[in-house]
Amino acid sequence: METGYKTCIRCGRIFFEDAAAPLADGICPDCVIDEALERARRTDAKWDRVSVQLIKARFRPGMRIRLIRMSDDQAPPPGTLGTVRGVDDIGSVLVAWDNGSGLNVIPGEDQIEIIGDDPAFAD
Ligand SMILES: [Zn+2]
Repeated sequence: METGYKTCIRCGRIFFEDAAAPLADGICPDCVIDEALERARRTDAKWDRVSVQLIKARFRPGMRIRLIRMSDDQAPPPGTLGTVRGVDDIGSVLVAWDNGSGLNVIPGEDQIEIIGDDPAFAD
């Protein structure tokens, strides 16, 4: 696998594939995670090890993100920016939100977008 821009064979979007954090060849990170979520739903399983690895590959420490939607009463308002601190062993994304909140993001339930550190998604 080479590092570079590719067209996702699922959704057709251009994405940046990083050879240092390999995902499924030819499939964009979002589709890879969608697939992992679908598998977790089908098997009615909690995050399996593979899914957690995918999420870890997708959300790297230091990455800047923006909150779109979070299903929690304590959630920061939509549009709040934050920095990824890591991913825990059950696949939650640990975030230091700019408003001081430390609420975790649950992929598949909550929605965030990456705004930095990934050329395909940078503003
Ligand atoms: Zn895709």
